[in-house]
Amino acid sequence: MLFQFLGTAAAEGVPALFCNCDTCTRSRRDGGRAVRTRSQAIIDNRLLIDFPADTYGHVLKNGIDLIGVSGCLITHRHADHLYPTDIDMLRQGYSHLPEGYHLTFCGSAAVGEFITPRISGALEKAGTCSFKEVAPFEVFEVSGYTVTALPALHDKNSGPLFYDITDGEKRVLYAHDTHFFGDEVWEYLTKNPRRYDMVSLDCTNACLPLTYIGHMGLEENVKVKNRLLEIGCADSDTHFICNHFSHNGINVHYDDFVPLALAQGFSVSYDGMKVVV
Ligand SMILES: [Zn+2]
Ligand SMILES: [Zn+2]
Ligand SMILES: [Zn+2]
Repeated sequence: MLFQFLGTAAAEGVPALFCNCDTCTRSRRDGGRAVRTRSQAIIDNRLLIDFPADTYGHVLKNGIDLIGVSGCLITHRHADHLYPTDIDMLRQGYSHLPEGYHLTFCGSAAVGEFITPRISGALEKAGTCSFKEVAPFEVFEVSGYTVTALPALHDKNSGPLFYDITDGEKRVLYAHDTHFFGDEVWEYLTKNPRRYDMVSLDCTNACLPLTYIGHMGLEENVKVKNRLLEIGCADSDTHFICNHFSHNGINVHYDDFVPLALAQGFSVSYDGMKVVV
């Protein structure tokens, strides 16, 4: 399995659109891995995770052919993860698609409220695109992968889910955006044992102590890692990765955060990072 991080920032991006704070100024100056666009990932160039406005830039920068993508998991409907307007680009004339092309978006009912109006009409008629509504703990198939939707602790109105994805051989956990997992998730993972080869955790706050529910920082990432190890869902070969950063976190600059994360057994994502799982 080839897992690629395309965008690795929270809503504002790093540097943020309108900001000259220390992190943004340094990141703008340094470029490279210090610059982070809005959240998106892709597996085997076939299954997308999230569909932000930065999708267009990600496709150009990474040489991705979206015609090869047949599924897209949406974590929730915050704008840094879902920009429904670009679904219109699938319409005849905006695109010239090969016969039989079909893209399936998957997400919660709240996500469907944003996506379905875009699909109904021309796209539905052409059979180009569909929306599959999934519920927490539902196991479903998309693009040849078996996916389990897990409930995230994040803004309830955004219909938040995070995803366990396996190709039958390798298994990854992509946990964005979420707080430390809820009791029902830990119960589910304990009752339904599995082993993750890769785990990507929400690290919005980096080293800033958490004062609200909805995201995590390095401290909470370490707690999730230890709990996964404890219940047998991970072992010493599991690749743990911190991802989804905000300029408001502490030590967010890539160069500052890498040694701190490494000391806790984590890699740090960057835009374009490829992981052979
Ligand atoms: Zn986000
Ligand atoms: Zn800033
Ligand atoms: Zn969010």
